[in-house]
Amino acid sequence: MSQAARSPVVVDAPQHAGLSATLDYLCEQPLAPGTLVRVPLGRRSVPGLVWDRRLGQPAAEAELRPVQAVLASLPPLLPAWMRLVEFCAGYYQRSLGEVALSLLPPELRKLDDTQIARRLQRLDRAAAAPGGGAGAPWPDLTPEQAQALEQLLPLRGDAAPVLLQGVTGSGKTELYLRCAAAALARGRQVLVLVPEINLTPQLEARFAERFAGHRLVALHSGLTPAQRLRHWLLAHLGQADLVLGTRLAVLASLPRLGLIVVDEEHDPSFKQQEGARYSARDLAVYRARSEQVPVLLGSATPSLESWQHAEQGRYRRIRLAQRVGGGTLPAVRLVDMNTVPRPADGSAVALAPALRAAIEERIARGEQSLLLLNRRGYAPVLFCSACGWKSGCPHCSAWRVFHKADRTLRCHHCGFSERVPRACPDCGNLDIAPIGRGTERLQEQIAQALPAARVARIDADSTRARGALQAQLAAVHAGEVDVLVGTQMIAKGHDFRGVTLVAAVNPDAALFASDFRAAERQFALLMQAAGRAGRDAAQAARSQMWVQTWHPGHPLYAALRAHDFDAFARSQLAERRAAGLPPYTRLALLRAEARSAEAALAFLREASGLAAPWTAELPVRLYPPVPPPVSRVANVERMQMLVESGSRAALQRLLAQWLPELQSLKARHKAVLRWAIDVDPLAI
Ligand code: ADP
Ligand code: ZN
Ligand code: ZN
Repeated sequence: MSQAARSPVVVDAPQHAGLSATLDYLCEQPLAPGTLVRVPLGRRSVPGLVWDRRLGQPAAEAELRPVQAVLASLPPLLPAWMRLVEFCAGYYQRSLGEVALSLLPPELRKLDDTQIARRLQRLDRAAAAPGGGAGAPWPDLTPEQAQALEQLLPLRGDAAPVLLQGVTGSGKTELYLRCAAAALARGRQVLVLVPEINLTPQLEARFAERFAGHRLVALHSGLTPAQRLRHWLLAHLGQADLVLGTRLAVLASLPRLGLIVVDEEHDPSFKQQEGARYSARDLAVYRARSEQVPVLLGSATPSLESWQHAEQGRYRRIRLAQRVGGGTLPAVRLVDMNTVPRPADGSAVALAPALRAAIEERIARGEQSLLLLNRRGYAPVLFCSACGWKSGCPHCSAWRVFHKADRTLRCHHCGFSERVPRACPDCGNLDIAPIGRGTERLQEQIAQALPAARVARIDADSTRARGALQAQLAAVHAGEVDVLVGTQMIAKGHDFRGVTLVAAVNPDAALFASDFRAAERQFALLMQAAGRAGRDAAQAARSQMWVQTWHPGHPLYAALRAHDFDAFARSQLAERRAAGLPPYTRLALLRAEARSAEAALAFLREASGLAAPWTAELPVRLYPPVPPPVSRVANVERMQMLVESGSRAALQRLLAQWLPELQSLKARHKAVLRWAIDVDPLAI
């Protein structure tokens, strides 16, 4: 192999393996960048991707090893995709190879070249006819939509990102469809991101019926490995015109990309919570700029980051203020729980009498009500009044939740589950009582209070079985449910036509949460929930959003009553500015996990010391390590340390230089199980 060529290859090795970002391998012929290969790594044989440039030190001649297999059937990944992956790995501080390889469908990494060739042939045969037909008709746009579309078209790759700030039901999706049509007409691919898998089937149906002549694929973690491979390949080969997916789809290979849409751009689900903790929304904006394609961020309640960009003119804001069909947004009614008489036993009432009466009215008219309670299970804790025992989790610093349906005490953090004890495990008292209320209990209480009503519940427990959620939603759509109780799962996206009342049963907790984003999230959730009421314009006038609160004077509720997102955003941003919080500063969170809190703390303290050379020079600040709200999970103690800077670049420089030092630090702190960095963390 005297004439052998060197190729830089990325392999799936973590950042702390001490390897360069790319490793050199030998091959008889130069390999096209983007080619999938198998290479030796130590004693293993691992998949790798030929990169289009060398990053790190070239290997010494003597160390070079040959590529073991070239998977030449797969068309190479393109440079634009490699730039995106490089950015993602660099910004979120993960190794390039780990990110690059993790983005390929797991099935693909297992196949040899012949097997890949066979899959591609099969795809080709299936692709011959993507199903013709005229597609569903396009409705006439409302004047407001038409005006918005005029600003959106023609699609321009060099334009600023667009923030489509439109109230729920204002027809944002219709505009996504029009923009998609424009991109498809130019022979380009369209990427549509939604926050949750649950929302993909609805949107998929809407896109599929409009674009009958085009191939549409879904990309999300709910697909089978075979489907995931197929859909990824169709996108990568450019055969799929529309790719609809959750956050992971933002990193799909899309050679003809011409438009990115991020629906519900504010949604926390766009942030990945493990591995490379990327924000799919932020990557979408980056990708759009780097590939010169337009990006459309849509929401009724934009993230404060995006909203502020729009205020500053960095994003172009297009507003939709009216609901399609002229329906009004539901009237918001606050119930002051301080004035609601308590039952004789002193327990908290589930529903204030006025709210209950309003629901009964709905039932009498054949309309539906949604009751939102963001806590699943029957009761968050069991309590012994004789000795004070509470249903704590032995493995976590958290209570175990009482689930009445299967009579278990379950920890929502580690999953530890036991049958409910008949008597207090500490003192034998038979009278142990549930404290507080989850969705199960609310459902039970509503069924008792309204015996004639058909009450259903949708939450993570009721929808565990495959297809259960779709079936339950279908029952709501078919009018087989009068009152639907549920967690935030019922607040998002659904186009329920028969709902004229939505109630937030107990939303106050977020007002006083330690997380600075809690209020922002809660406001978005309540606005979204309100948006489920009165979607049928004929009923909009009498639709209502009820809020049971102990703090009716809180500004968050005042803004909610006025449906005034901008007022809320302004007041939140003023608080954030005063407190030096994002978007006025940039954050990263260093987390450590160990068998003891002391060990985690010692690691973070020493890590903090190692940062001193940079913190002296850069405008970056490290806070003392603290435990997160739930500090022990599955017998592992967690600690975290906040890193803050007014400058994104300074923060990035610190992280890039400092984190490699933590690799060797970890080697000395044997009791530390894991550490991780979260750049732009959502929750702190
Ligand atoms: P959003 O995405 O802002 O919540 P949608 O696009 O889902 O709003 O529109 C709300 C409802 O109005 C949907 O049922 C949709 O089919 C309908 N709709 C949207 N635009 C039009 C239009 N121009 N003419 C008729 N119906 C429309
Ligand atoms: Zn007891
Ligand atoms: Zn636990």
